[in-house]
Amino acid sequence: MCTGPSITFGDNLVNKQHVYSFALGDGHNKKLLGGKGANLCEMTQIGINVPPGFVITTEACLDYLKGNELPATLMESVKAEIAKLEALTKKTFGAGPNPLLVSVRSGSAMSMPGMMDTILNLGLNDETLAGLIKQTGDERFAYDAYRRFIQLFGKVALGIGDEKFDEHFEDVKKQAGVKADVGLDAGHLKQISEKFLDVVRHETGAEFPQDVMTQLRLAVEAVFRSWMGKRAVDYRREFHITPDMANGTAVNICTMVFGNMGDDCATGVGFTRNPGTGENEMFGEYLTNAQGEDVVAGIRTPKPLQRMEQEMPSQYAQLVELRNTLESHYKEVQDYEFTIEKGTLYCLQTRNGKMNAAAMVKTSVDMYRESLITRDQSLLRIDPELLEQLLHPSLDPEHTSAPIASGLPASPGAASGMCVFDADLAEKLGRTGKKVILVREETRPEDIHGFFAAEGILTSRGGKTSHAAVVARGMGKPCVAGAEGINVDVDLRLAYVGEHILHEGDVITLDGATGKVYLGAIPTLQADFSDDLKELLGWADEVAQMKVMANADTPDAAKMAHEYGAMGIGLCRTERMFNASDRLPIVIDMILANTAEERQGALDQLLPIQRADFIELFSVMAPDPVTVRLLDPPMHEFLPTEHQLLEQIRTLELYRDVVRGRQIALASIANAPALPEAFSELSEEHVNDGLLKKERMLQKVRELQETNPMLGHRGVRLGITYPEIYAMQIQAILEAAAVCARNGITVEPEIMVPQVITTQELTKVKPTVDRLKQQVEKETGQELHFKFGTMIETVRACTRARQLAVNAEFFSFGTNDLTQAVFSFSREDAENKFLPMYNQTGILNDNPFEVLDVHGVGRLMKMAVKGGREIRQDLKIGICGEQGGHPKTIDFCHRVGLDYVSCSGPRVPIARLAAAHARLRAVQS
Ligand code: PEP
Ligand code: MG
Repeated sequence: MCTGPSITFGDNLVNKQHVYSFALGDGHNKKLLGGKGANLCEMTQIGINVPPGFVITTEACLDYLKGNELPATLMESVKAEIAKLEALTKKTFGAGPNPLLVSVRSGSAMSMPGMMDTILNLGLNDETLAGLIKQTGDERFAYDAYRRFIQLFGKVALGIGDEKFDEHFEDVKKQAGVKADVGLDAGHLKQISEKFLDVVRHETGAEFPQDVMTQLRLAVEAVFRSWMGKRAVDYRREFHITPDMANGTAVNICTMVFGNMGDDCATGVGFTRNPGTGENEMFGEYLTNAQGEDVVAGIRTPKPLQRMEQEMPSQYAQLVELRNTLESHYKEVQDYEFTIEKGTLYCLQTRNGKMNAAAMVKTSVDMYRESLITRDQSLLRIDPELLEQLLHPSLDPEHTSAPIASGLPASPGAASGMCVFDADLAEKLGRTGKKVILVREETRPEDIHGFFAAEGILTSRGGKTSHAAVVARGMGKPCVAGAEGINVDVDLRLAYVGEHILHEGDVITLDGATGKVYLGAIPTLQADFSDDLKELLGWADEVAQMKVMANADTPDAAKMAHEYGAMGIGLCRTERMFNASDRLPIVIDMILANTAEERQGALDQLLPIQRADFIELFSVMAPDPVTVRLLDPPMHEFLPTEHQLLEQIRTLELYRDVVRGRQIALASIANAPALPEAFSELSEEHVNDGLLKKERMLQKVRELQETNPMLGHRGVRLGITYPEIYAMQIQAILEAAAVCARNGITVEPEIMVPQVITTQELTKVKPTVDRLKQQVEKETGQELHFKFGTMIETVRACTRARQLAVNAEFFSFGTNDLTQAVFSFSREDAENKFLPMYNQTGILNDNPFEVLDVHGVGRLMKMAVKGGREIRQDLKIGICGEQGGHPKTIDFCHRVGLDYVSCSGPRVPIARLAAAHARLRAVQS
C-alpha cells in the first residue's frame, strides 16, 4: 500500500506517503487527494468500473512548489504504481504491442474547472505508436491520439504556445481541402504528428521525449506548477478559495480508455438528475466514436442520453446502473463523465452537481421523500443565499449586454424602466402604468412616493444601509446604490454615465444582485416561491431555534413579509409612516411649531393616522408580535435641504414680481381680459404667505443643522426634548392594540426606544407609557398586553446592558448604528469610499454593514446579552440591523443565544433556512 518515501523535515523523520492507488486512497480525504482523486478512489472501492490508476497527493505538490523539485523518490513510487497498472491491465508502459497509455489530470480539494492542466494519451512514443497501430489496426486513430498528445504535452509540459501547432494543423487541413478535423485521414494525421515533433524540436532545441517515465515526470511537474498559474491564482482570488479550503493540486494518473475506437465506443457527461429543473431523470449528452474533448469542443452535436437506450441498449442499462449507484452512495446529485470502450462502460469522474436554486430545492424535497437523505441533510445541502434566485426577478442569463455603470448591489432583483429624476414625476408616470426607475443622487424620506411607483431605484451616492437601500429592500424592489460613475443633473433632467447621456425617459435596466446598470430593457426571469420551497422552509422552521421576523413599516410590506414566512415584525420604523404625501405637511407643521400648543395641534392630527396604521399592521401580523420603534431620525430629515429652500425662495420672489406686474398691467388696461380663476386667486398675499413659510423652514433648517446629524439630536434624545411626540406615538400604539383586542384580534405590540445610552433615558419615557396604559385601559375597558424595550445600537448601551434590563423587557440590536459606532465608519459613506479597497486588499474580509463583525461588534453584543440576562433571565433579545438577514450573522446570533433575527421581508426565506443551518451546525459541533 505505502509506496511513498520517508523524507526529512529538519531533524524529524516523517513518513509521508505521496502516492495512493485508486484501490486504497481515502475517498473522504479531498484535501490530500483532491476532489477528483478522492472520488476516483471512492468509486473504485464501491465497485464502480473506473480505469485503474493512482493519485499523487497535494502535499507532494506543495513540496514541489517549495523547492521547484519533486520530493525525493516520488518518481520511484510512481514507477511502482505504474508497474501495478501494467499488471492489472496487462499492458506495458512505453513498449510492446499492447501499450499502456495514461491521462495525467489535476484536481484540488475545491473544484476549479479548466483552471489547471491535463495531459492525455501519455506514454506514446515511436515504439508504442507502432504497437497501438498494430493492436487496433487503426492507423488514423493512433496518429490522432499521437498528434493530440504531442500538442497537449508540448503546451503544458514544454510551454510551447498552441498557435505554433495550430498553424501547421490548419495548413494540412487547407492542403487536404477539409474544414473539420474529422475529414482528415491517417496520412494527414501522420503528417501533422511529424510537423508537431518538428515544432517541439525547433522550440525546445531537443527531441520530443521518447522515454515515457521522463514524459510522466515532466507532466507531473507541469500539473503541479499549474496550481500557481495565473488562471488558477485569479480563480482562487475571485471565488475566495483560501489555503484552508484547498492547498495545492493532486495529480491523477489513470489508464486511458478510448471512446473513439469504433461504433461500439462513446463518451459523454451526465447528471444524475436534471440540473435545470431538479427532475429525477437521466440527463446528459454523449457522442459515439469520440473523445471526451469532442463533446466539449462542439464540433459534433452530442445526443441526449435517452437516445442511447435505442442505440446502445446494454450500455444504457450499465449507465442507469452507474447513475443509481452514484446517487445512492453519495446521497447527492452527481455530475459524472463516462467513456464506453468496446462496449464496456467506465466512469472517469464524478462530483457533486452544481444546480440552480429551483433544482436544488426540488431535489432536496424529492430526495428526502425518497428516503435517500434525512430532513436535516435536505436542509443543509442548500446554501441559504442561493434562495435569493427564487425570490426576486433576475436578468435572463442569456443576455449579452455590457453594463454602462455599476454600483453596490443594494437590493436584489432586476427591473427595467424609463429613468426619472424625481419622485413626483415617478409617481405621476407610475400612476399611468408606465414602468419607471427612480434615478437620484441619493434619496430622502420625502421621496417615498417615488419608491412606491418605481420598479427600481438607482442612486449615485450612499451605501447598503443608505435610505435608498434599506427602503428598497423592505419593499422587495431592486436597488443599485452608490453608482459613483453616474452624475445626475436634476435641473437639466439628465444623467451623465461615462460616455453616455441618459435623458429622462430613456429605458435602463438594473440588476440589484450584481449592482450593474444596463442601457435598454433586458428580459428578466420571474421569481418562483414554489410549493417545494414552502415545504422546505416549513422544515427549517421546525428545526430552527431562533424566530425570523421582518423589518416592515407599512401594511403592504407586512403582508409581503408574512407571505415569506415572517413570524412577526422586529422593526417598524415609524418615521417611514410620516413620509406619505398627505402626512409630511403635518409633520413639517409639527417641526416648525414654535410652542408646545402649536406642536400639539399637529400631533392631534397625526394621532388618528398613526393609530389607523397600527391597527392595520397589528391585524396583518396577528397573533405575532410587532415591534414599533418610536421616532428616530433627526428632524431635518423631514425638511428640504437649505439649498433646495434657497432655490424655492428665489423662485417665489421672482414669481411675486410677476404677480405684482400682472396686477399693475391689468389695472392699466381698459377692458382687461378675465383671468382664469386660479390666477386671480393667487394674490401677492398668497405668495407672501408661501414665502413666509419657506423662510421659517429655512430658519428651522439652519437651527437644526448639525455637523454629525447621525450622532446628534435624534432618537430618544429627541423624544425627551419633545415628549409630546413620543406620547402621541405611544398613545396610538396602545389605542390600536385596544381596538384590535375589542375586535377579537390578539396583538402583542412592543414599544421600542431608539439610540439609548443610559437607563435614565428609559426612566424618562417609561412613565408616559404607564400613564397612557392606564388611560387607554380605562377609556376602552380593554386590558393591554405589550412589552417595553430598547434598541441596543450604541456602544454605551452594550456596556450598560445590566442597568438597561431593569427597565427594558426586550433588547433589539441595531447593528447598523452599532457598527458605525464601533468602527467609527460613516454608514452613509464608507461603502463607496474605502471599504471596497479594504475588502479587496484583505484588510477586512467582509463589509461589516452587510455581515456582522463578530470579533468587534459581536463581542459587544455578547457582553450585552450576558449583562441583560443576568438581570432579566427571560429578556427577549433580537437583532434588526441589516446584517440580521445574512447567514453568517444568523449563525453568530444563534450561538450567542438570541431569540430572533429581523430582516427585510424578501430576505426572510433566506434567514429561515440560515436559522435552521445555525441550529444544525451547533448540534453537530
Ligand atoms: C440600526 O441602527 O441597526 C437600525 C436598525 O436602525 P436604523 O437603521 O433605522 O438607524
Ligand atoms: Mg439605528
